[in-house]
Amino acid sequence: MKDIAYLEEVNQFEVCEYCNSCGRRTRAKEGAKCSQGNVACSERIITLATCKFSQQLKEIIHDGMDEIEEVHIATRRNMDGETLSRGQDLHDFAHFQNCIESKADYESKKIHISLSLCMDAFPLFKKTNYSITPVQIHIRDLKAHNRSLKRNNVIAALIGGSEKPSEVIIDKILSKIRSFIAIGMRMDGWEYRFTLST
Ligand SMILES: [Zn+2]
Repeated sequence: MKDIAYLEEVNQFEVCEYCNSCGRRTRAKEGAKCSQGNVACSERIITLATCKFSQQLKEIIHDGMDEIEEVHIATRRNMDGETLSRGQDLHDFAHFQNCIESKADYESKKIHISLSLCMDAFPLFKKTNYSITPVQIHIRDLKAHNRSLKRNNVIAALIGGSEKPSEVIIDKILSKIRSFIAIGMRMDGWEYRFTLST
């Protein structure tokens, strides 16, 4: 995972507190009620720090474009039945192959990027049950050994709380990612389309 210092510098957090049961904003940290005025909610506060994930994605794709093209070309050759040399990144799992752009699209500079979401909570302090859940986006189009590198992981959000974030909280991040994906992006003369799997 990228360090917090990097995220503060590059991405600027947007930090909000929500009630974990109804998903509404809370007013303050201590003794808060959610905006529904529900006192019971105040004990279930989740802190959600949303990061500028689109900027992180752009940087990684920009830096990794040669590698992404290489992986896509190799995958398409493999799909066409060509035998590839040992050590070449095949990406021959069905999902990836279904997501990849056609040769015609590739030649007209349209590229499909396959993203996956990863959420693993870790406890912040041993004695409390407060935990942090980073919501990370992985770019599956990079070579296997590079995919999990710290510099290639996008932090979409950090969720902090004493209980597991509910669906309503997760949905807040997912909807931001989905609206980004719905639009796609253009960079360096390429048109990018994204697919997301969880
Ligand atoms: Zn509530």
